[in-house]
Amino acid sequence: MNPELAAYACDAGRTRGRRYPVSPDPTRSDYQRDRDRIVHSSAFRRLEYKTQVFVNHEGDLFRTRLTHSLEVAQLGRSIARSLGLNEDLVEAICLAHDLGHTPFGHAGQEALNDCMREWGGFEHNLQSLRVVDALEHRYPAHDGLNLTFETREGILKHCSRRNAQWLEAREPGGVGARFLLGHQPSLEAQLCNLVDAIAYSAHDVDDGVRSGLIRLEQLEDVALVRRHISRVKSDYPMLAAAHESRRLLYETIRRMLSEQVYDVVDTTRAAVGRAGPEDVDAVRGLPPLVCFSVAMQADTTQLQQFLLHDLYRHPRVARTMDAAQRVVRELFAIYGADHGQLPGSRAARIRAAGSLAQRMRAIADFIAGMTDRFALHEHERLTGQRLLA
Ligand code: MG
Repeated sequence: MNPELAAYACDAGRTRGRRYPVSPDPTRSDYQRDRDRIVHSSAFRRLEYKTQVFVNHEGDLFRTRLTHSLEVAQLGRSIARSLGLNEDLVEAICLAHDLGHTPFGHAGQEALNDCMREWGGFEHNLQSLRVVDALEHRYPAHDGLNLTFETREGILKHCSRRNAQWLEAREPGGVGARFLLGHQPSLEAQLCNLVDAIAYSAHDVDDGVRSGLIRLEQLEDVALVRRHISRVKSDYPMLAAAHESRRLLYETIRRMLSEQVYDVVDTTRAAVGRAGPEDVDAVRGLPPLVCFSVAMQADTTQLQQFLLHDLYRHPRVARTMDAAQRVVRELFAIYGADHGQLPGSRAARIRAAGSLAQRMRAIADFIAGMTDRFALHEHERLTGQRLLA
């Protein structure tokens, strides 16, 4: 066992293993191997051209799902190390957590969920699992990346009861079971979930200001941001000058992130100390242990609500997202009505898929896998209309 790992951490030497057994790697642990499989997947490369908030071509400096995933992994690893958790597992889960996202962020997911309503809906966490379990075709003898249970457990961070039952029927006692039993995942998985929120709140502030959709002064309404802006200004009075506003913003975000990270480390350490789980199975039966303090949770929620209202629902973002939803809906309708409109070998593969529900699922998989740019090109090819160009 790795001596730096806490007793309550996941130990690669005691993994619940993979669906298809593999021989041990001479140099890498099972979780390092999972991370490597994720980084080499085609779904991972496509994250570069998928939107978080801004459509991919709106600006070269905005976050994409790829840079978001790297920032999540960075925060996750650094907290994992200080808590004695398994860094390799945290990195693997963080890098994979958004693999199932559709093009155009949440707007794309909502549209695809609508389209799939009669056939079981569409949910991006379940889709991330589907990508690593089934949709990557890289190994001669099986579909999917054949990842360990612990990485798959972390990737499936939310799941409806109906989907959990569906998973449980296929994999008894597997990654769906905890949603039926009301259990928690490993601390590594809990951590990835929390750092996802820390990362996007921070970088959406940065991108929001950079885009001009929110102004630094508006952020003074948010307690977490306000207290750091004022401390930075008092430490560096010259940053109050208009031409230094970017440095002021960066230093503010840096301090805000640090405060959130230290808060999670302290709060989690105390919670783990009180609960005293002796191993990861004990963790699964306890309430969530990786969390913010009550005060920091309130501050973070306030920031998220500000972003929801002032950035994600900004009229300019909303207009783009309306067009994005139209792209997804029209692609789904066109492919569904005439599979011959699907490019290349897709048409044959989808016709071979059997039932109508399976064919619709295959179309949803295809659309979900698209980058923003590819979806726009396909839409233009099929309708002659150029949206969001
Ligand atoms: Mg994310």
